[in-house]
Amino acid sequence: MTDAPPDAALRRAVRPVIAYPDDTLPRPDLALYRQARAGAIKTGEVLVPPRDAACFEVPAGQFFRITSVEGPQVGDLNLWNRDDLSERFYSGKTRALHGTHLVTGDRMWSSFPSLRPMATITEDTLGWYGFDDDGGSVHDVIGTRCDPYTGALLSGTQYHHCCHSNLTRALADHTGLGLAAAELHVHDVLNVFMCTGFTRDTGQYFMKASPVRPGDYLEFFAEIDLIGALSACPGGDCSAEHSSDTAACYPMLVEIFAPAPGALGDWASPPVNSYDRSHGRG
Ligand SMILES: [Zn+2]
Repeated sequence: MTDAPPDAALRRAVRPVIAYPDDTLPRPDLALYRQARAGAIKTGEVLVPPRDAACFEVPAGQFFRITSVEGPQVGDLNLWNRDDLSERFYSGKTRALHGTHLVTGDRMWSSFPSLRPMATITEDTLGWYGFDDDGGSVHDVIGTRCDPYTGALLSGTQYHHCCHSNLTRALADHTGLGLAAAELHVHDVLNVFMCTGFTRDTGQYFMKASPVRPGDYLEFFAEIDLIGALSACPGGDCSAEHSSDTAACYPMLVEIFAPAPGALGDWASPPVNSYDRSHGRG
């Protein structure tokens, strides 16, 4: 341990400032989205098997809903630009812009150099949860995704149904890429329905049983043409452990909804980021 300087208390008492004030962040027109959603018709669905993943496509301007069915289950969500897999969900920047857990009206932002909204959360039946007394909340962008490498590192296991592997298989099957190529496109996730936080004393990432119940859903508006992949995590409701076949696991339902033609007026997909990419060189 190092010795604290005489002015340690003063230094600690400095007021925090919000790193990325969001008052200039472009706001979604939720009223327009909801009006369009009211007249939308269902165009497809995918049932994600437990301890496995599935891909789905959502055209820009349509909606997708992830619903808990049969039992409490958390899901790990990846998103890609349908026409360019190198543009993918950027969990870390989304966290910097919106905070540790996403709520209605927040966006899922894409990787550099595009950095634009890929999807906007339009409905959340767990919106009532807020932050609990442990500092936990739902739908985090702080976890990564459960993966076999960390299991091998910590306990020497070879487990093949972590979300990372599930997402890899699903993307490989959907795109025709080989496993090794598909794996490189899998990225840190939005933890749908998962209840997580950091312990106040040690700052460690924790999870607790998800408050999700069958019928609960999280719904998104696709801002660009998307490929999504959802893994029904082997952790089930993540009340105890993941990276094994121990937990009770349930399927998850993904449904796609298309608004009526013209329902979005002159809405258009957001353009890619306006930075000129010269990086200080001429
Ligand atoms: Zn998982």
